[in-house]
Amino acid sequence: MKILLICPQPQTATALEAFSDKFGHTISSCSEIRDAQAALESWRADLIVFEMGQDASARLSLIEGHKLRNPAVTLALVGDGSDSQIAEALRSGAEAYLTAPLRPKLLQLTLSPLLRNAQLTSLATTAQDEAARVQEELQGSLERQKEAITEKELTYRELLLAYSQLQELNQQKNNFLASATHELRTPVTVIKGYHRILLDGRLGELAPQQREVLQESEQSCTRLIKIINSLLELSRIESGKLELFYQDYDLAANFKLIVSQMKEFSKRKRLSVVLKLEKELPRLRCDREKINQVLANLLENAIKYTQPGGKIFISARPHFWDRAASSGTGRPDVQGVASVLLNALVIQVSDTGIGISPEHQQEIFDQFTQVSSNQMDRSGLGLGLAISKRIIEAHGGRIWVDSQVNSGSRFTFLMPLNPVEAPVTAANKHSH
Ligand code: ADP
Repeated sequence: MKILLICPQPQTATALEAFSDKFGHTISSCSEIRDAQAALESWRADLIVFEMGQDASARLSLIEGHKLRNPAVTLALVGDGSDSQIAEALRSGAEAYLTAPLRPKLLQLTLSPLLRNAQLTSLATTAQDEAARVQEELQGSLERQKEAITEKELTYRELLLAYSQLQELNQQKNNFLASATHELRTPVTVIKGYHRILLDGRLGELAPQQREVLQESEQSCTRLIKIINSLLELSRIESGKLELFYQDYDLAANFKLIVSQMKEFSKRKRLSVVLKLEKELPRLRCDREKINQVLANLLENAIKYTQPGGKIFISARPHFWDRAASSGTGRPDVQGVASVLLNALVIQVSDTGIGISPEHQQEIFDQFTQVSSNQMDRSGLGLGLAISKRIIEAHGGRIWVDSQVNSGSRFTFLMPLNPVEAPVTAANKHSH
């Protein structure tokens, strides 16, 4: 430990040096009283030994001042041992008073406990400083955390507000879309009706050229009505008004009907359409019109996006759908083990067409999405698959695509055989 000797008499210095040597302490000394103040400030000693000498009262006031500023400092005074000196020394706050000349045994008995005490005090001070530093750091980090939380709360509130504004805007858009398309449908249907009257020759025979122009115009009307119906349907779905009317569904009969309705279209492109249905297909419960709409959309796309001369396959087979195993991926394993526990139907529409690149395979199920690189047919609006997905999912099913560019696409949808049917209310029975 460090001992500072101030103004020691030669004998005092010798005795203390011997004591320090014996116990491994370090000693520094300052022989002049005028240097004492600087030595006290610069040399952080564990023990200060102060020789009283002649001008004792000046020295004592120096010590008192120092003790006042550094209450933890340990002080020992050395003097001639008169009663008045001892009394003054104790008033100054010194821990010990040693009578000169110093005897080694007495020095050891007095100074060793003082030094141990000083060591403990210094350890306690360091620990206290460390505790204060840690507390300050904790306080700082607490403040920072508080600030972060306030910031997060603000962002969360702003997000909520933005979300509700967006929802409102979306609702306004849906309302506008619904009323605009509704207003459009009536006149277009009337125009189409007049085309039919003219084409049927009810207002007189038509010249071949007139017939041709009118036929083309009628087809445009049909396309327009289809788009209007899709928009109306989507806005109905968007506002949560997709209602399903469950009934028994004869899959073979309905699929054959859809294929025959598209025959004209597929023949024009010299496409062969193969319908491959397993003989003993279980009966499905679903909304017949809506499932027919999905199938028609998939078949129409297959025809649209396949080059002339290509092939289209439609298949249906029973399947064991392990929902737990496929949850989250949205893509059940259709190759899974066949089981007596058949609980679903797998329906697939495949083509040998232009295919869809991997980065577009998810987004084509979003509304108004068309693959920009796919310029083959831009007649639609990119709504068919978005509507189909909602219809299938409303039945508790899943739909996805596997495809390779320039090789073809395979759309698969899974339909549960025992869907959880939402009860049909009096209101929606009426609207149906
Ligand atoms: P659209 O009315 O544009 O056909 P869909 O929602 O039915 O709208 O399809 C979205 C897009 O997905 C299409 O524009 C097309 O780019 C792509 N697509 C759909 N089916 C096929 C398919 N069988 N082969 C290649 N691309 C397809």
